[in-house]
This record gives sequence, structure tokens and C-alpha cells, in this order.
Amino acid sequence: MFSSGGNVTKGNLKQWLVNGGDLQGYLFQCVHCKKHRLHIDAS
Ligand SMILES: [Zn+2]
Repeated sequence: MFSSGGNVTKGNLKQWLVNGGDLQGYLFQCVHCKKHRLHIDAS
């Protein structure tokens, strides 16, 4: 589902599931550079 990010994979990211009503989000934090990215799926 990542459209960009180079070598970013699930393998080197921590993942949290976020429930926010009609939106379901996945918050990722890279274990290397600590950058966060949020992917949101509309249900
Ligand atoms: Zn990183």
C-alpha cells in the first residue's frame, strides 16, 4: 500500500492500529530513523 518510501517495509516499522470511526488508520514508526507515517483506509 506504500506508494513511496524506498526501502520502507513492514519488517522495519512498528505498527499500530488506530480506530477512528469510519476511518481505520495504521501508524508506522521506522525503527531506524524514527520517522512516522500514517496510512488511512476508509471503510
Ligand atoms: Zn527510517
